[in-house]
Amino acid sequence: MKRPQRKWSSGELRRLASMAGTMPAAQVAARLGRPPASVEHMARRQGLSLAYDKLPGEGRCSECGLVRFTLDRSGRCAPCRHSARLDAIRARMAEVHRELPPERRGVYAATEAACGRSRMDPAPARPDTSGMGPRAAARAEREWLRECELVEASNIRRRMRAAERRLERMEKSCMEGKTGGNA
Ligand SMILES: [Zn+2]
Repeated sequence: MKRPQRKWSSGELRRLASMAGTMPAAQVAARLGRPPASVEHMARRQGLSLAYDKLPGEGRCSECGLVRFTLDRSGRCAPCRHSARLDAIRARMAEVHRELPPERRGVYAATEAACGRSRMDPAPARPDTSGMGPRAAARAEREWLRECELVEASNIRRRMRAAERRLERMEKSCMEGKTGGNA
């Protein structure tokens, strides 16, 4: 036997109106704790659209779990991908550092510290969404999050490139050390 639907309270109707179109319909239903069909039915009766316009590339990152806008086929966002690459470079750098002749180690420890101070672009200012409807405000918020993500990715990429160059120099120095370095 089908269970009768719980009656909608005025509070729930207000929450429905404020969430409609600001997130995927399945999420609206989950937050209200109601089946999607019931939420769709009520939205229609209230003249509300549940249509949610995703930004290009929008989805949840499989690694950091955040709503992101730069997912690739692996399901990871650009900041997570660049961070993983940066970690790998740093791990390799630690290895190479141990292989360096002792008189060269000091030079590279100093370079590493200098690279930690590389330039960082600031995050863009949060948009003023007062006076916007919930749908427009949610969209402006997501566009801002996307901009923040791009800046974050570019900051990590810059550190990654600097680390790559540093690793190259260390590897070269290591090779020179092994071949005698007195040519
Ligand atoms: Zn991520």
